[in-house]
Amino acid sequence: MSNTKASNESFSQQPFRTLAQQLEKTPPCQAQCANSGDIRGWLGLIAQHEKIGLTLDEAYDKAWEKLTELNPLPATIGRICPHPCEDRCSRQDKDGSISINAMERFLGDWGISRALQLPMLDSERLPESIGVIGSGPASLSFAYQMARRGYGVTIYEKHALPGGMLRHAIPNYRLPSDVLDAEVQRVLELCELVISDVEIGRDIDFKELRDRHSLIFLGLGAQAARDLGIPGEKGPGVISGIAYLWQRKQQRESQIGKRVAVIGGGNTAIDAARMARREGSDVTLLYRRSQDEMPAVAHEVADALSEGVEFRFLVAPTRIIRNENTVVKIEAQKMRLGDVDAQGRHRPISIPGDIDCLPVDTVIVAVSQAPDWHGIDASSDGQDWLRTQEDGKLEDNIWAGGDNRGPGIASQAIAQGRLAAESAHAEFRGIPGPLAAAVPGPVRSDGVKPDFYRDRPRGSNPRRPEAEWLQFPEQEIEQTISYEQGLCEAARCMSCGLCFDCQQCFMYCNRGGFTPVQDGQPGKYFVLALEACEGCGKCIEICPCGYLEARP
Ligand SMILES: Cc1cc2nc3c(=O)[nH]c(=O)nc-3n(C[C@H](O)[C@H](O)[C@H](O)COP(=O)(O)OP(=O)(O)OC[C@H]3O[C@@H](n4cnc5c(N)ncnc54)[C@H](O)[C@@H]3O)c2cc1C
Ligand code: SF4
Ligand code: SF4
Ligand code: SF4
Repeated sequence: MSNTKASNESFSQQPFRTLAQQLEKTPPCQAQCANSGDIRGWLGLIAQHEKIGLTLDEAYDKAWEKLTELNPLPATIGRICPHPCEDRCSRQDKDGSISINAMERFLGDWGISRALQLPMLDSERLPESIGVIGSGPASLSFAYQMARRGYGVTIYEKHALPGGMLRHAIPNYRLPSDVLDAEVQRVLELCELVISDVEIGRDIDFKELRDRHSLIFLGLGAQAARDLGIPGEKGPGVISGIAYLWQRKQQRESQIGKRVAVIGGGNTAIDAARMARREGSDVTLLYRRSQDEMPAVAHEVADALSEGVEFRFLVAPTRIIRNENTVVKIEAQKMRLGDVDAQGRHRPISIPGDIDCLPVDTVIVAVSQAPDWHGIDASSDGQDWLRTQEDGKLEDNIWAGGDNRGPGIASQAIAQGRLAAESAHAEFRGIPGPLAAAVPGPVRSDGVKPDFYRDRPRGSNPRRPEAEWLQFPEQEIEQTISYEQGLCEAARCMSCGLCFDCQQCFMYCNRGGFTPVQDGQPGKYFVLALEACEGCGKCIEICPCGYLEARP
């Protein structure tokens, strides 16, 4: 919605009068999304498709395009993102948050089924050559954003197949390989060259790579598993979580025994435990804090419980006991919770003398991972993680994003890859960078009026019957919502902070201040003539999405 400006005269005559104003605001979902996704924007295209003259098919196409401006892997992220955006959705206390993640998945699958092409920004070829290390979500996002701006991009990946942890760690029952393949392939097609089975720092010298390209992006991830550092850990029968998941993804011969202990409380530990259940093992997960402190996605923890993983909280392994070379037991110290640490989690404190022993054949250690800097002297300052500027710049012509800057989630890796690309492009072209752009303020908490909207129950992804989960270990548990459900769910969005043409202001303004716009679009349905406004505030009171506000 655009304003017709009040004349200088009308303002100067009444300098302190309050007038209704139309101002876009940032909705709570977007503020929570790691990738700052324009969720309201793509939902609005679907919900308001008839008003803006689109068929539903066209609206889904356009919504996919809007979504992929920031995220080239929507079907993937729509399956694995822990969706913090939904935690703050304004609809939560009415009849449930919008199923944003399910919608993202739906649109992602829609894009794959329609073979939609990623939206390019420039057809002009730019002279700089870009080298990208790794092909995880951070690197793919960086490569996509550079390629669509006209740069020639070469990706170097040490493994045969691209995708990073999405490919090699996240199990198929959460993210099927064919979905990942389809989305990754679309990005790779935009690149000049994709060189696989080549490890930078071993097969190609890092310095040589810097000489080859105008800019290098580091997206190495955190691929090196950390040890527990306890006696008995080295030897057969003990394997890291990522090595175990990698073997399962490769469908290599199973190496685990009947009784398995998994150590850790993050996503890797939960995925490893659930995978071991799929191999028929009895699995006990040991975590040194309580369930509330677990960094793993909450619904994955709940699903692991349903699948029969036994959880033992507040225990920390102290020794792996072997008979000859064979693991027979794991010894663990009981813990209690202490003060809250810098990350806001309770510190685990050992209870002296309180030791537990668990008979096991295999121990899967999934406590944490760190980047492998072998042969890459990219000023990690001897630290595990890269310390870059906010935009991802490390030093001249070296940028970084994703897990090599610190452990995170995939949508955060995509966001960091994107921000680095937008910033590097701005630096190359001498234009203002993305961090200089103004961000609309948040919607006021009392601005959105949920009572205005009619009740519509939240739709969510259908799931396979629980009895089938272990029976068909490779089959995806969650399914995609239908074509019709996509529209229903989008129509639940209250368009927080942006006009969606409810026409209340138009009907209630006694002064006829609001004029409909021809060929309106989300956020641009009415023009408000400020000179007509007498400041009665009715439109602000009535505007259900918090778009209109009073300003002096
Ligand atoms: C088991 C597990 C489950 C997870 N579950 C979720 C989840 O449910 N939701 C979620 O959002 N996130 C999840 N994550 C986290 C998510 O996968 C990561 O945050 C994300 O993959 C990080 O992306 P990245 O691009 O930084 O690194 P990565 O995905 O690790 O990719 C790095 C790539 O760089 C390559 N590489 C490394 N060094 C070199 C080199 N020297 N030369 C060439 N190539 C190199 C690697 O082979 C790899 O392909 C999970 C992670 C794991 C391990
Ligand atoms: S990426 Fe995650 S947080 Fe962002 S919109 Fe999608 S589900 Fe929500
Ligand atoms: S109702 Fe729509 S715009 Fe508002 S927070 Fe939820 S998804 Fe975002
Ligand atoms: S009252 Fe309705 S039509 Fe008017 S600005 Fe608010 S959302 Fe738009």
